Amino acid sequence: ALAVDEQESTTKTMMATNPTKRKKDRATQSLLNKLIRSNVVNNTNQVEVLQRDPNSPLYSVKTFEELRLKPQLLKGVYEMGFNRPSKIQENALPMMLAEPPQNLIAQSQSGTGKTAAFVLAMLSHVDPSLKWPQCLCISPTYELALQTGKVIEQMGKFYPEVKLAYAVRGHKMERGVKIKEQIVIGTPGTVLDWCVKLKLIDPKKIKVFVLDEADVMIATQGHQDQSIRIQRMLPKGCQMLLFSATFEDSVWKFAERVVPDPNIIKLKREEETLDTIKQYYVLCNSKEDKFNALCNIYGAITIAQAMIFCHTRKTANWLAGQLSKEGHQVALLSGEMVVEQRAAVIERIDVEQVSVVINFDLPLDKDGNPDNETYLHRIGRTGRFGKRGLAINMVDSQRSMEILKTYERHFNKKIGRLDTDDLDEIE
Ligand code: ADP
Repeated sequence: ALAVDEQESTTKTMMATNPTKRKKDRATQSLLNKLIRSNVVNNTNQVEVLQRDPNSPLYSVKTFEELRLKPQLLKGVYEMGFNRPSKIQENALPMMLAEPPQNLIAQSQSGTGKTAAFVLAMLSHVDPSLKWPQCLCISPTYELALQTGKVIEQMGKFYPEVKLAYAVRGHKMERGVKIKEQIVIGTPGTVLDWCVKLKLIDPKKIKVFVLDEADVMIATQGHQDQSIRIQRMLPKGCQMLLFSATFEDSVWKFAERVVPDPNIIKLKREEETLDTIKQYYVLCNSKEDKFNALCNIYGAITIAQAMIFCHTRKTANWLAGQLSKEGHQVALLSGEMVVEQRAAVIERIDVEQVSVVINFDLPLDKDGNPDNETYLHRIGRTGRFGKRGLAINMVDSQRSMEILKTYERHFNKKIGRLDTDDLDEIE
């Protein structure tokens, strides 16, 4: 909670320290994505569909009505604010709801509606009069399982006969007590225990098996084998569905082992480009100098929201303090914060409104070399959805000038010099 000047109330600043940790922990990143996302991501690429039976007509739907959902579920879908199926759902839903059930491997970036799609499929296939598990969904972590569980609860809000059980660590169960809930969601180890050791679930009665976040799953030691062991216990005719945000070879090999005779749906990630973004650099001597340059920029142009990246937590803290003193509303984001804290910060900021990205320090990889991917990722946050964006790099040494030049060469886009004492050219 920072005191905000009336005049400054439209200026929000988000600061972030170098997020290289991000790549290490895919599950955390995935959870963060889920916590902050409130809508489907915009993706203009074409969905690729590969049908198991190339002679059968390709069905796609433009409305939820066409799917002939149970009224309770249609109500749940609308209550969640969904007006029409997302791009991936247009093709995935008819396949998943078809009779006889079809297997599916689907790949699309996070936020494109995969979870909502398989939740709807599970809820549609359940027979609520039968009091045993019929749908089994495995997720890589406890937290991700809970997030999916929340979606099941929301979408099934008007279908209260369908119950949900969580097979996750800490949920202690006695041997042999039969689970009555029709949907079980959990992590591979606990699900395996519930099926094999404790015999709480009869895997032969499962009709729908969902393996979510396959790419995150196989990044965890042991999960791949556990998933395959679970899959082998399922009956013939059980519908197998596998989802992944990425599709490296390793994910692909795993998917083919888990999902026999699959239909395949792919949606390429939206390319990030620097085409609509104006890039500049500013020459500075010290961090104080950089701060002054920053103030000049704020003084000269109208900035709705800026994202400022620093290399260390210490610099970010210092800068946040200085900016607050100037009356800016600042939110600080850094690597040591837990995922919920980070999500809470990002939620306070409308990332889609970011109009300026400032590299207070240029991005570097862990060896101190240029990191093109991170540069693109940071700068790409401005100029989304066809808006024009602005990126400003602070250069404070010969070395950082060299690094800037490598970014300029790599992306083949000019990064012009900006004189912060004369800022007429950027507006
Ligand atoms: P993914 O599993 O691919 O990451 P989700 O299913 O979690 O994607 O969907 C991302 C966000 O979009 C969620 O907030 C979800 O509620 C919302 N969403 C999903 N499908 C639709 C839809 N058809 N219309 C509007 N919003 C949707």
